[in-house]
Amino acid sequence: MTSGAVEAARNILTRLHEVMASRSNAQAKLNNVVEVIGECLDSEVCSIYLLREGMLELFATRGLAQEAVHVTRMAVGEGLVGTIADNIETLNLAEATAHPDFSYRPETGEEKFHSFAGVPIVRRERAVGVLCVQHVDPRRYEEVEIEALQTVAMVLSELITNADLIDEVDTHSFDAASNGPEQLHGLTLVKGLASGTAVYHQPRVTIEHVVAEDTEAERQRVILAFEKMREQIDRMASQAEFGVGGEHEEVLETYRMFAYDEGWTRRINEAIDSGLTAEAAIERVQQRTRMRMRQIDDPLLADRMHDLEDLANRLLRIVSGQMGTAASMGLRSDAILIARNLGPAELLEYDRRRLKGVILEEGSLTSHVVIVARAMGVPVLGRVRSMRGIVREGDLLLLDADQATAMVRPAAGMIEAFEARFAKSRERQAAYAALRDVQPVSRDGERITVMINAGLREDITNLSLTGADGIGLFRTEFQFLVSATLPQRERQTRLYRDVLDAAGDKPVMFRTVDIGGDKTLPYLRHDDGEGEENPAMGWRALRVALERDGLLKAQARALLEAAAGRTLNVMFPMVAEPWEFDAAKAVFDNQLAYLKTQKKVLPEAIRYGVMLEVPALAEQLDLLAPKISFLSIGTNDLTQFLFAADRSNPKLAERYDWLSPAILRFLRRVLRNVEGHNVDVGVCGEMGGRRLEALALLGLGIRRLSITPASVGPIKEIIGKVDISQIREAMDGWLANPPENMRATLARWAADREILVD
Ligand code: PEP
Ligand code: MG
Repeated sequence: MTSGAVEAARNILTRLHEVMASRSNAQAKLNNVVEVIGECLDSEVCSIYLLREGMLELFATRGLAQEAVHVTRMAVGEGLVGTIADNIETLNLAEATAHPDFSYRPETGEEKFHSFAGVPIVRRERAVGVLCVQHVDPRRYEEVEIEALQTVAMVLSELITNADLIDEVDTHSFDAASNGPEQLHGLTLVKGLASGTAVYHQPRVTIEHVVAEDTEAERQRVILAFEKMREQIDRMASQAEFGVGGEHEEVLETYRMFAYDEGWTRRINEAIDSGLTAEAAIERVQQRTRMRMRQIDDPLLADRMHDLEDLANRLLRIVSGQMGTAASMGLRSDAILIARNLGPAELLEYDRRRLKGVILEEGSLTSHVVIVARAMGVPVLGRVRSMRGIVREGDLLLLDADQATAMVRPAAGMIEAFEARFAKSRERQAAYAALRDVQPVSRDGERITVMINAGLREDITNLSLTGADGIGLFRTEFQFLVSATLPQRERQTRLYRDVLDAAGDKPVMFRTVDIGGDKTLPYLRHDDGEGEENPAMGWRALRVALERDGLLKAQARALLEAAAGRTLNVMFPMVAEPWEFDAAKAVFDNQLAYLKTQKKVLPEAIRYGVMLEVPALAEQLDLLAPKISFLSIGTNDLTQFLFAADRSNPKLAERYDWLSPAILRFLRRVLRNVEGHNVDVGVCGEMGGRRLEALALLGLGIRRLSITPASVGPIKEIIGKVDISQIREAMDGWLANPPENMRATLARWAADREILVD
């Protein structure tokens, strides 16, 4: 803002403050407002149009015919006023009639005025009205005047919302009218369809007060907020959680650049000098930047703008103290959650009945947040860039993760078409549900074991819903993730007992806690308090459990007590060397011995297993095999280590294929290494829940799959159609002589046999 603009705005704001503080009714206040602005800007006409019943209605004017007030109404998009609201942009015209969108309203008597300037009145990123000035002389308004108008429009937004003068801004009818539908494209992370309103995980701050009481105090608030924000950014840079190298680092660099940008702080301070509160000043500067950026059509700049928006929102949240996520405020209706990225614990904080879908700017197929969403049956679309500029809080969204798209503010016809697809998809689900009591037996008579992965108390019902053979992976750390503090032993025992009770005769394979990697707990940090540079390969899973053995002892006791009188199946994650298994089992042996001395009822049998996730273990399986009853191949971690490709890194999400001969040959070698031992081998990674991949696994000789509940139907269907001896033979041939594209070859093989794989 120039000093002239600051002066002009301050002058108007002081007078507006008086108008707003007066005891008159809202209409009288608006009448006064147009007078004040008209006088201060020396403008012959000043008018306010507000959105009512979806139309922009002339609410107050100085200079136009008073008979037109509440009579002249325009649709959003119609005439100059409608265009301003539609595009949320400023117009500054020396000759109004020359503009292609000009539409003449005789009742206003505006024909004698030539110049025209208008700014949108914005509330929660939507235009709720328009403020405009007109002059007889054809002239363009100066930047100073436009800036003063824009500042006044912010004040008006507060006045009219407080006075309930406008339509409720959350309604969908307005969304569609003010801004057309747009389609987002991304990467399917969890299939499925969902509709709901857009909810930002980190919501935009609603600005309650625009006009400052004490300018100096507002300045201080901004200084403190900037300090805090810079601290946060610097801390993020030093934290491994934010990643080192690649995309994260670029984003962080941009954040830093903006956070320390003196131009930005100066402009905010100038806006405060003009009489705005700290929040309003930040928003005011942001609005102006947004408008400028919109005129420059450069994708690179659009990306930077997106980062600046993120940062401005962070600053607003700090300054206003509105720090909670959308989860802490609760979802009010069916919602599609929007975030740059999320941790699994953050996702679990949401109300599962209302959370219908998730759209992430990042995300990858095997990141834990995606696994949790899959377990919750929530579709996820990932890798959608720059949503902030397109999706607004409260917009209606139709998420079609099957097609890797989402429609923002859909038109009525699109909603209908979507509903039809939704109904079809539900029909398909119903058909899968009908397979509940069908045994997974192949065409040549092999009975395959199909189990489900679970981790939360609510997941237990999936066992009876899917008719699965048991729980092949119970991720015990989920209970830790959803707790604010470390779950005490008794709470663990209760959960395990309930799971076993619900499972009845069906086996449950409990995995001891796998904390670390992308599953961090605020209450359990590494001793030195430092973040790790490479958490997936760092202090996680059994490594934590063996070092903090109090944790494993408590869990061992909880599992042993919960399984009193029945069979306990327990396995250890991330075993790399056989001695790690021995050490973990020794903890169980000790607890068992203790329970014996206490004359407690012991489990009838204990079956120990390990997860094969670290490639090194494959080379020593012959040493381990005699000691274990089962082996569960965790292909999520295993493949990230085989390919040296971080499973959470969105840039690598599509780079490597599970159907690569490298993985398939490796798995076959694992199976051969345990041949002759009495070890039950299964796959419990996400790979097993995908049809083509499951087919490949059957071809390798895998006979037990533990998969996400939603996949049980589709995988049972595949099993029923395949001849195992045939796929084995084909797989032997392909692995000896890999085709160029294994996925396409396998798909063709399936299609020739009428096996549906997508
Ligand atoms: C795996 O790594 O494949 C696995 C099943 O465990 P998680 O996804 O919990 O790491
Ligand atoms: Mg794992």
